[in-house]
Amino acid sequence: MSEVRVRFAPSPTGYLHIGGVRTALFNWLFARHEHGKFILRIEDTDQSRSTEEAIHAILDGMKWVGLDWDEGPFRQTERMDLYRQHAMKLLERQQAYWCICSAEELEARRKDALAKGLAPKYDGRCRTRGITDPTGEAALRFMASQEGQTVIEDLIKGQVVFDNSVVDDLIILRSNGYPTYNFSVVVDDALMGITHVIRGDDHLTNTPRQIPIFRALGYAVPRFGHLPMILGSDKTRLSKRHGATSILVYRDMGYLPEAMINYLVRLGWSYGDQEIFSVAELIEKFDFEHVQKSSAVFNPDKLLWVNAEYIKHSEPKRVATLLIPYLAKAGFGDERKYKEEAIEMELSGKPGEWMEKLVVAFRERSKTLVEMAAAAAPYVQREIVIEEEAAKKYLTPSIVPALTKLADGLASLSEFSHAAMEKAFKHVLEERGLKMGQLAQPVRVALTGRAASPGIFEVMDLLGRDRTVARLRQGVERARAGRP
Ligand code: GLU
Repeated sequence: MSEVRVRFAPSPTGYLHIGGVRTALFNWLFARHEHGKFILRIEDTDQSRSTEEAIHAILDGMKWVGLDWDEGPFRQTERMDLYRQHAMKLLERQQAYWCICSAEELEARRKDALAKGLAPKYDGRCRTRGITDPTGEAALRFMASQEGQTVIEDLIKGQVVFDNSVVDDLIILRSNGYPTYNFSVVVDDALMGITHVIRGDDHLTNTPRQIPIFRALGYAVPRFGHLPMILGSDKTRLSKRHGATSILVYRDMGYLPEAMINYLVRLGWSYGDQEIFSVAELIEKFDFEHVQKSSAVFNPDKLLWVNAEYIKHSEPKRVATLLIPYLAKAGFGDERKYKEEAIEMELSGKPGEWMEKLVVAFRERSKTLVEMAAAAAPYVQREIVIEEEAAKKYLTPSIVPALTKLADGLASLSEFSHAAMEKAFKHVLEERGLKMGQLAQPVRVALTGRAASPGIFEVMDLLGRDRTVARLRQGVERARAGRP
């Protein structure tokens, strides 16, 4: 078999929808599995609906999830000559004809047909008019055969048969000179050597329109695979009503790109009952045999679960790298210093060990990177905000001597190791006759501003000696001023 060549061909009319990303993903996995090529083509011929912003969102979204393309991005508006040349070729071969029916006439006839219970398709009026050189507005129509059937051996749906009588003479060039989707898609798929057209099954009825155009132009017909739609929990087509559907919104909400990929691939493809797959594993295992024929239901809770799994089990270094922009975005702590540090880490591609420790401390309790960044705030902030409730409860005058002792003890340690911190801590407990929790809670509040945190020595370790001691001393001041 010749090289596999597939494409993702979004129309830039809005944000990049997660359904689109799933389509792109299946194409990409197939290309990578087959050592073929994955092509990105922006279908921007609908000038009234396409925007530059949407093109950026597509490219950003694709890059974010790691779906890299081998060729492109092509833009259809830069290929207009090709569509016109191909349209003229069909005209010369008398497989296309000029149509001068006005929009009003077409609409009136459409209504008429509907009223008579007939299919509202173009009645072929201009087919036999033999217009060779239209002077006014004219569109070019494809002369579609009304005889026989078009048979699709769909990679996912199996054999699908359409009667050609349902297909009408569709417009291939509008009167403004722009090609229609069904025509430009065929010219491009042919010229780009696409071997497999994998797309949503909302395009299934377009396929019997496109196949005759491939044939009329003398091009090989690719294979087709139509993916079932993704539905919301109420079994209607996934839309904003069911939650966020823009891929970049998931990025902003703190999802890992690999978690998105993992979740999206499972919307329609399975491998036994395995849930978690690395990308390398997906490339190795992906096939169309295991793409299900029925629609998949999008479940935001499951996606969140997958994300939490990725946060828990990924290399801390990877999570740390991803976390940096969320910390920066939240603007925690001394921003300038933090940003410098973060940029340095990003440039070296190696977030310091400290960031990895931070991830390990919070990965069990964070479902998203946004949550993790929020939880990590006291560790990256220079000045913490002590929660009023926590201060009232734990930073009271009676704890002043113990906190002071602890600060002094920690300050004089020769090394700030876990064992040494623990020893200093125990020493204060014994001396002041306190139980662990009686000291740990005030210390926690002094160090983090909050009444809940990871283990107290983990906290001290993350903060380092200087910050630990300084915060304990601030805690002492606060406790002294507190109500008994
Ligand atoms: N531009 C079309 C869309 O976004 C692509 C359809 C196709 O893949 O052929 O729906």
